[in-house]
Amino acid sequence: MKQYTAAALILALLGLMLCGCAHTSPELYSVTYWDLFDTVTTVTGRAESQEAFQSVAQGVYDTLLRYHRLFDIYNEYDGVANLKTVNDNAGVAPVAVDPEIIALLLDCREYASLTGGAVNVAMGSVLSLWHDAREADTPYVPDSGVLAEAALHCGWDTVIIDQTAGTVYITDPQQRLDVGAVAKGWAAQRAAEEAPEGLLISVGGNVCATGPKTEDGEAWVVGIQDPDGSSGYLHTLSLTAGAAVTSGDYQRCYTVDGVTYHHIIDPETGMPSEYWRSVTVICADSGLADVLSTALFVLPREYGQALLTQCGAEAMWVDSLGVQYYSPGFADYVRE
Ligand code: AMP
Ligand code: MG
Repeated sequence: MKQYTAAALILALLGLMLCGCAHTSPELYSVTYWDLFDTVTTVTGRAESQEAFQSVAQGVYDTLLRYHRLFDIYNEYDGVANLKTVNDNAGVAPVAVDPEIIALLLDCREYASLTGGAVNVAMGSVLSLWHDAREADTPYVPDSGVLAEAALHCGWDTVIIDQTAGTVYITDPQQRLDVGAVAKGWAAQRAAEEAPEGLLISVGGNVCATGPKTEDGEAWVVGIQDPDGSSGYLHTLSLTAGAAVTSGDYQRCYTVDGVTYHHIIDPETGMPSEYWRSVTVICADSGLADVLSTALFVLPREYGQALLTQCGAEAMWVDSLGVQYYSPGFADYVRE
C-alpha cells in the first residue's frame, strides 16, 4: 500500500465528514477502514449488536479488499494476477486473470464508448505521468512532449480481452491501464449488491446506500463537500438507495510555481480539466455514478447533461467561481 500523502489524509477527513452526517442514532454502528483503494472507507448501518454489525461490515470489507487487490496497478499480491500484472506484461504476453477483471474491463470499454472517450481507463500511460509527477519528492509538471507521446498509446484496439481464454493482453508495450476513475464505484456496487439492506458504504467520495437508514424508510443524509473547504457542505442529500459520487479538484492535487494541478485529466489536452471544481452525480448504480462524475468533470455542461439524460442520472456542477448548476431532477434529492 502506498504511503498516505497529505492530500490523501485530507480526503480521508472529508470521507469521515461525509459519513459523520449519517451517524446520528444509537442503533447505528460505523466502522472505518484505511487500507482500501488508497482512500478511506466507512460502513454504517443498523444492527442488533456490535458483533452482528461487525460481521456484516467484515463481509463488505472482504469484498472490497478482493477488488482492491485485483484492480491495483501499483502493488503485487501473492498468488494474484492483477492489473499491475497485466500492465507489466504489456507487449509481452496475455495474462490469465480473475473473471472479475474481465468483467470490469468489459464495462470500462463500454464506459469509454458511452462517454465518447471522456472516461478512458486505457489512458494509463498519460495518467501515470501525472501520478509520478504528483508523488515525486519534488512534485513537477509532466513535460508536454512526453504527455503528447503518451497520448498516442491510449486506444482500445490494443487491449485484447479474451473472454473465452480468460486473458487480457495489452499488445502495445507503451500502453497501461488505470481504472482509478471507475474501480471504487464499481467495487462498491458489487459489495452493496452482496450486502444486507440498510447500509451506507462510503469509499472515498463514492457513497452507496443499500436501503433506507431505518425500517420506516428514513433516508441517509449525505453531505456534498464545498470544494473550497471553507463552509463545510454545499448541500446535504437524502439517499435511500443508489449512489452519490463526487469528483473534485481538491481530492488529489499539488502545487508547482503557485499553480495547482489536480488528478482528473482531460483526454483532449492531457492536462487537468478546467471546466469544474467538483461534480456530484446521483445514480442507481454506483459504478455508473463513478464513471459519470469523472466524465462530467471533463465535459462542458451540455454534453454532461446529455449523458445524464441517457443514463437516468442527476448531477450538480460547481465551477471555478463557486457557481452551482443542477440537472432538472437533482432538487428531488436535496435536503438542505
Ligand atoms: P475520480 O476521482 O473517480 O473522478 O477518478 C479520478 C482518477 O481516475 C484519477 O486519479 C486517475 O487515476 C483517473 N483518471 C483521471 N482522469 C481520467 C480520465 N479522463 N479517464 C479515465 N481515468 C481518469
Ligand atoms: Mg469516477
